[in-house]
Amino acid sequence: MLRDAVRSLAEAKIAPYAAAVDEEARFPQEALDALTANDLHAVHVPEEYGGAGADALATVIVIEEVARVCASSSLIPAVNKLGSLPVILSGSEALKKKYMTPLAKGDGMFSYCLSEPDAGSDAAGMKTKAVRDGDFWVLNGVKRWITNAGESEYYTVMAVTDPAKRSKGISAFVVEKSDEGVSFGAPEKKLGIKGSPTREVYLDNVRIPADRMIGEEGTGFATAMKTLDHTRITIAAQALGIAQGALDYAKGYVKERKQFGKPIADFQGVQFMLADMAMKIEAARQLTYAAAAKSERGDSDLTFQGAAAKCFASDVAMEVTTDAVQLLGGYGYTRDYPVERMMRDAKITQIYEGTNQVQRIVMARNLP
Ligand SMILES: Cc1cc2nc3c(=O)[nH]c(=O)nc-3n(C[C@H](O)[C@H](O)[C@H](O)COP(=O)(O)OP(=O)(O)OC[C@H]3O[C@@H](n4cnc5c(N)ncnc54)[C@H](O)[C@@H]3O)c2cc1C
Repeated sequence: MLRDAVRSLAEAKIAPYAAAVDEEARFPQEALDALTANDLHAVHVPEEYGGAGADALATVIVIEEVARVCASSSLIPAVNKLGSLPVILSGSEALKKKYMTPLAKGDGMFSYCLSEPDAGSDAAGMKTKAVRDGDFWVLNGVKRWITNAGESEYYTVMAVTDPAKRSKGISAFVVEKSDEGVSFGAPEKKLGIKGSPTREVYLDNVRIPADRMIGEEGTGFATAMKTLDHTRITIAAQALGIAQGALDYAKGYVKERKQFGKPIADFQGVQFMLADMAMKIEAARQLTYAAAAKSERGDSDLTFQGAAAKCFASDVAMEVTTDAVQLLGGYGYTRDYPVERMMRDAKITQIYEGTNQVQRIVMARNLP
């Protein structure tokens, strides 16, 4: 029922703008409005804070169905989870009430600020600093590649509070867009997910009350990694949705397109490609849903399974979207058809929330 409801909404209210959002590289406001009106913009927020209280699998299905029509728009529910999960996992009750309530209402989105210009895969090498000053912390630094920066009201920011301790000297904070000293860079000019703004976040003597720290001092990096264990599954869901969208489009096209006097769908070479695409998608779906169940239960092998789902599903998305372009021939290579956008959008799923090389490092360290 949830899938049907999200699919109908996505097809009616999000799909019609997907090409324009990509072409104009603009924020998908129509998608945010439609998702918020239907309480689908941050479904993971628990009911006690006014949220929909969706479990990890339901959240995955929402993201998958939105990504099937517009990958950029699927980053609304996905990044709202990524940005706010540190608070849900490690924040005080007061912090949860303060920030989950407006998020659930649709009064403000949440972004996640881990990466920096010189700290990507090696996120613990970050330089952004937070220095204690009485009842306040003062933050200085630059966060890079922040999804929905400028659009979001709230930012989970990881910063160094004790440089001697490396990853154990990193703490997490909630920073608000309206805090003095917060500003944003120009939107990055990207290959894909062009409707999803990616900007730098500048923190220039941002003075915030001490109770904005998420959890204890020095636990920020652990919280950031624990968050990714859960949210990599949402990227798997995004990849899965993109791949399904490409297969669905290609499936329809091959029945219409005629060469050699018959629909190209009649050729076994084409049928075998479609069969492989569907097989890979189904394998990615099973892995992703199993990982979502593990996320919900907090199983001990979640770290491996989350990385495996993200890595596998994103590789599948890249393969399937490339094959979809192939099945449309020259038409697939143009912006008159959606599959080239899907192919460009798929690429990012192999890169963010840890590149697929990093996922393999994570898996190798946590072999079942
Ligand atoms: C569109 C977009 C949105 C993003 N959104 C966010 C966001 O909201 N919040 C946020 O914090 N970050 C975000 N990121 C950052 C993203 O997570 C990083 O780009 C990613 O982790 C890779 O870091 P890097 O770009 O610095 O690449 P690098 O770490 O410099 O990696 C370059 C290459 O080296 C490889 N490599 C690095 N180390 C190893 C190793 N040990 N072994 C093998 N290979 C290695 C990588 O796999 C990659 O192929 C986003 C990025 C993009 C492009």
